[in-house]
Amino acid sequence: MESLRFKALDNLSKGLPKVKVESPGKITEIFNENVFTLQVARKYLSDEAYKSLVASTRGGKKIDRNMGSQIANGIRAWAESKGVTHFTHWFQPLTGLSAEKHDSFFTLKSDGTPIEEFEGAALIQQEPDASSFPSGGLRATFEARGYTAWDPSSPAFIMEIGQGKTLCIPTIFVSYTGESLDTKTPLLKALVALDKAAVDVCQYFDKNVTKVTATLGWEQEYFVIDAGLANTRPDLLLAGRTVFGHAPAKGQQLDDHYFGAIPERIYAFMRDFEQESYKLGIPIRTRHNEVAPAQFECAPIFEEINLAVDHNTLLMDIMERVAKRHGLKCLLHEKPFAGINGSGKHNNWSMATDTGVNLLAPGKTPKTNLMFLAFFVNSIKAVHDYADLLRASIASAGNDHRLGANEAPPAIISIFIGKYLTQVLNQVESRVSGKFDEQDEAMLKLDIHKSIPELMLDNTDRNRTSPFAFTGNKFEFRAVGSSANCAISMTTLNAIMAETLRQFKVDVDALIEKGEKKEVAIMQVIQKYIVDSKAILFEGDGYSDEWEKEAAKRGLANVKTTPLALDAYVTDKAKHLFESNEIYSHVELEARHEIMLEAYVKKVQIEARVMGDLATTFILPSAIKYQNVLISNIKGLKEVGLSEAAYANQKQVLEAISTHINEISDNVEKMIEERKNVNEIADTRAKAIAYCDGVKGKYFDVIRYHVDKLELLVDDAFWLLPKYRELLFLR
Ligand code: ADP
Ligand code: MG
Repeated sequence: MESLRFKALDNLSKGLPKVKVESPGKITEIFNENVFTLQVARKYLSDEAYKSLVASTRGGKKIDRNMGSQIANGIRAWAESKGVTHFTHWFQPLTGLSAEKHDSFFTLKSDGTPIEEFEGAALIQQEPDASSFPSGGLRATFEARGYTAWDPSSPAFIMEIGQGKTLCIPTIFVSYTGESLDTKTPLLKALVALDKAAVDVCQYFDKNVTKVTATLGWEQEYFVIDAGLANTRPDLLLAGRTVFGHAPAKGQQLDDHYFGAIPERIYAFMRDFEQESYKLGIPIRTRHNEVAPAQFECAPIFEEINLAVDHNTLLMDIMERVAKRHGLKCLLHEKPFAGINGSGKHNNWSMATDTGVNLLAPGKTPKTNLMFLAFFVNSIKAVHDYADLLRASIASAGNDHRLGANEAPPAIISIFIGKYLTQVLNQVESRVSGKFDEQDEAMLKLDIHKSIPELMLDNTDRNRTSPFAFTGNKFEFRAVGSSANCAISMTTLNAIMAETLRQFKVDVDALIEKGEKKEVAIMQVIQKYIVDSKAILFEGDGYSDEWEKEAAKRGLANVKTTPLALDAYVTDKAKHLFESNEIYSHVELEARHEIMLEAYVKKVQIEARVMGDLATTFILPSAIKYQNVLISNIKGLKEVGLSEAAYANQKQVLEAISTHINEISDNVEKMIEERKNVNEIADTRAKAIAYCDGVKGKYFDVIRYHVDKLELLVDDAFWLLPKYRELLFLR
């Protein structure tokens, strides 16, 4: 029987049917088509209901049942006009994916009359039987109830799957006792904390500021490969990454893929998922090839952070689904292929006031520059003080392959700010020492203004090796993993910013109380913060060995693995931070820590199983088959009377193959034994560490090494798994 690999290759060479993607005409014609925007709401709601919706969208104001029913009716009328029959609360549990459970508008009255309805209660709150989502022990099985509650700040939308259309209501997900069980709830709480702290600081500069929102523009990297080929790789199907595969003769060394022409099949896929995104109001703006072969990126225009996170979660769903239509497989894993770049999700982050000011954009006047400087330096201080927590917020089994490997940002958190701002900070540091007079003050302000030239806004001053880089008017957190829900890292980032700003105000007020002028007090605290957090600033090559040594000298942490990185979530410092900002209680933090460790254990466990299965049922049989070919060949040559020299090469290959076979079967056996032992460990943290250092650390690389060597020795016709060159270059 022909192997699946060759069937898939055959299909590819026959040329796959191309999916035709209609042009939308103008994007503006379809943008938001499936979103219950405020403009749509205006048409479907009474004045009263509309006002109530607007108020709750802007934050805070609760919607009562009666108003809820009016709004629900309006949403249903709109949805039905588009052919929708079902609705669902759409939420993001701690699986890292989105979740939904559909209900129909259709119901029966007590007398059996069929009607269509959507009650306010059903809009506002639902109780999905969701007891199987991870809860880290927060919900004992006897109290398994979990509630979803409407988040009016993210608009309802219609998800089209094939001919089916479902009204989706973005919601939070909490336990019966109120603990958060999702990624959205803590994010919303962190945003409230940031808003309050940032507005307080803005008040020093502009009394008109009453609201500060965090903004996020994510850049999503991903791989796309032929689905036929992907389907014959059990590792891709079950673990999302290849556990075996020798590097192809050609990888990314020629840099010929980066920003290159987009292959036609991929191009159709991109246009298709972009159009679905536009309809859902996801403002995708850019698309291009990335560095590795078969790697691509897309990015939207930035948005308010909660919406941006929902949009990214939705997009990941859409991409995976639309890829199937095109006979493609979209890989969101951080490291699907060894030896070439992995995928990240740069989180571009800033804060904006309701007066229209980007708080991380250098201003045009000394006064606005001082406000910029305050927020800029507070960001640096926040990252410096809570680097361990930020590192924890991006920790996952997948991301471990990027961080610490010499390609993605390192596991050491540092900040790149560029030449000009480095100069500015140096000036501030040296000038604002102790007391200084009026004249000094004026000069200082002028200097700052002068030394932030327009040039800086130009994105020329870039450092691609920094995990946290200032890029002119925003910070770019580059270490986030491609498959991550960005709410997790953004909750932490906004929480630490809120805390730092809060302390900043306390420090400035203390100086003002002592009689210091406001501007002088602000400058002095800024100066102190620069001194305190200088160690985190680094402008050099983040991938270099020198930086590892230098960072160690500076006392910066370099935690390379997830189980240890996650410790930062349960330190007293973290507990204090999250509890005082009302984001997580101690119980919630500990539950999350547990869930993330469990997720890590399961991921590595699955990879270990896949590795064992593949080695035993794919790799070894092929190798043995080829071994037999060589044996009969040698026997034959001997039989016809040739000397040993005639089959010396075959013998050598045979020996090598035998060695690799033995190494593989020995190590697989030992790995299985190790896994059994590790599974007995009761403490989740200890178990995760044992999976990391024992199961993965001791065996994954060894087994892979021998399998990849075999791939180079065994007759290609016997090899069952599609090779890297096929996965990466055929489409
Ligand atoms: P890169 O050169 O790193 O690819 P881009 O200029 O394409 O960066 O922008 C990356 C992302 O940053 C985009 O999503 C963009 O909308 C976003 N961005 C720009 N300004 C802000 C801001 N003030 N806050 C948050 N994100 C922003
Ligand atoms: Mg970027």
